[in-house]
Amino acid sequence: MKCRQRRRRHPRRDCLEAACWRQGWLSTARAVPSPNHGPRPAGAEVRLAVLHSISLPPGRYGGPAIEQLFTNRLDPAGHPAFAEVAALRVSAHFLIRRDGQVLQFVSVADRAWHAGASRWRGVANRNDDSVGIELEGLEGRRFTAAQYRRAAWLLRRLCGAWPVTEVVGHEHIAPGRKRDPGPGWRWPRLARRLGGMPLQPTPARATASALRALAGD
Ligand SMILES: [Zn+2]
Repeated sequence: MKCRQRRRRHPRRDCLEAACWRQGWLSTARAVPSPNHGPRPAGAEVRLAVLHSISLPPGRYGGPAIEQLFTNRLDPAGHPAFAEVAALRVSAHFLIRRDGQVLQFVSVADRAWHAGASRWRGVANRNDDSVGIELEGLEGRRFTAAQYRRAAWLLRRLCGAWPVTEVVGHEHIAPGRKRDPGPGWRWPRLARRLGGMPLQPTPARATASALRALAGD
């Protein structure tokens, strides 16, 4: 099916790629609808992109467990690591797998449940105005080249359709509580891929020392 490009409220020359959105769903992502979402507060604009990392079981990639968790179908007896998370009611808008495949669980028009208690630039509850992007991976470990490419690809499309102006990590909006995506995610590498986009990968400088610590990694 051919898609019609949504009229942009915030046209930006560097973001005008052929994004195909239908009611907040990206047509080129694999849709796995999650019940774990709600409406955004009246007047909330999608201004922030929040990157996370997740793998289930931790450090094991490619299985169905992340999809099952976000759709409330994870078997708590399936693995010792599942027992403590299976009852959580959580979601993210997107998941980028190790091979770059993009899955979408919640319409960007809706509020996904990914950030929890959070604060950024003095504003709390950033689930209200953010889009959550999970990277299949493990805190402190490297991510794949395909994931950097896809993250930039996805951010360009988000930027073209929504007034997103910043991309941060979960660790930055919930410091002390969350540590993902962690020092294995190289913010400067994402920044290079974003090129002239108006998005600001704000934590690049903050994570520079952590990246230096990983220099021998
Ligand atoms: Zn997270």
